Amino acid sequence: MDGNDKSFGDLSTNFWSWEFRCPCKKCRKKKVLVDDLLLFKLEMIRIALGNKPMIITSGNRCPEENKKVYGHSDSAHVPKPKGKGSDVKVKGVKPIDVGLAAEKVGGLRIGIAKTYTHLDTKPPIPSRFWIYTGKKPIYSGSIENNDLLKFYQIIKGK
Ligand SMILES: [Zn+2]
Ligand SMILES: [Zn+2]
Repeated sequence: MDGNDKSFGDLSTNFWSWEFRCPCKKCRKKKVLVDDLLLFKLEMIRIALGNKPMIITSGNRCPEENKKVYGHSDSAHVPKPKGKGSDVKVKGVKPIDVGLAAEKVGGLRIGIAKTYTHLDTKPPIPSRFWIYTGKKPIYSGSIENNDLLKFYQIIKGK
């Protein structure tokens, strides 16, 4: 949402249900359910990054939609009963830097993709961090589970 917009979202200060809606036809009229802790943490990250607009590229997904986009079978995007996952983009901020801001906020699992950052409030099992490379993510569990930047540098070879 625009930082100059004085109105508030229906989910939280800056977020609206429509942004988290499953994009499939079947879910057009379904109620959008998003975990309150996730919304709170997204607001915190947004502030940490200077209140730039945060775009939700994927919020809730029904099981069919999740399959269609090759989501994990136990994806946090699928509401149970609330959706605990989101893919976000912040204008002018790299996905890894959104991830590092999320790491500072804490209590999130973080997935770094080429153009977005996955954030969810599920417990860190098996991993707290991962990096999307093609269709199969590389999980931090067996490599380094405590430091996102270190893990990212190992995977990227930097
Ligand atoms: Zn759907
Ligand atoms: Zn995701």
